[in-house]
Amino acid sequence: MKGFEILIEDIPDEGLEIEAAEGDVWLAEAVREAIGEEFDEPFKAQLSLSIFKVEGNVNLEGEMLLITRRECDRCLERFDENITVPLHTVLAPLYESERQREREGRLGAEVVKEDLEFGFYEGDRFDLAEVVRELVALAIPMKHLCRDDCKGLCQKCGKDLNEGPCGCPQVENKGAFEALKKLKTRKS
Ligand SMILES: [Zn+2]
Ligand SMILES: [Zn+2]
Repeated sequence: MKGFEILIEDIPDEGLEIEAAEGDVWLAEAVREAIGEEFDEPFKAQLSLSIFKVEGNVNLEGEMLLITRRECDRCLERFDENITVPLHTVLAPLYESERQREREGRLGAEVVKEDLEFGFYEGDRFDLAEVVRELVALAIPMKHLCRDDCKGLCQKCGKDLNEGPCGCPQVENKGAFEALKKLKTRKS
C-alpha cells in the first residue's frame, strides 16, 4: 500500500483539512485493501477530514462517502451500494516502554493496544492511509442488499420476487419454526 504519511508537527493548531477522492492513489489503494476479496470494480469515494492535535493525541473527524458497484446477496441484481464511512478516531502516542514515557515525561492518554476506541501513532508521524483502511473495513456491511426489504429469488424457479410473486406453491416453513419454538420453550 502506498500510504499517506502525516507528520505530527505539520498539523497546525487550527487543524489540517484533507480532501480526497477515488482519483487519489493512496485513497484508492486503502479502499481496495479494505474491501478485499477480488473486488476489482470501479468505485467512487469522497473523503473530507479534519485532523487536530489535542494534548499529544491526534483527533480525526470527518467522513467518507463510498459508492461501490455490487451484486445483491439476495436477488443477484447489480446495484450501487452507498456506504457512509464515519472517520472519527483518536490516535494516541504508542510508547515503546514505560521507561521511555518517564524519560520523555509526556502525558498521553493511558492506553493499551487492545483498546478499540483508540488507534496509535509511533514516533513523529502516522499513516493516514492505514487509518482510513481500518475504518472503511469496519464500515463495510456484512450483507450487501440492493434494498433492506429485498425479497430475493424464488428458490424453486429463480424468479426475482421483487418484480412480483411467481406461480410456485408457497413453501410452508411454519412447521420447522414451530418445532424450534417448542424446543426453546422446553429449554428455558
Ligand atoms: Zn436484491
Ligand atoms: Zn417460483
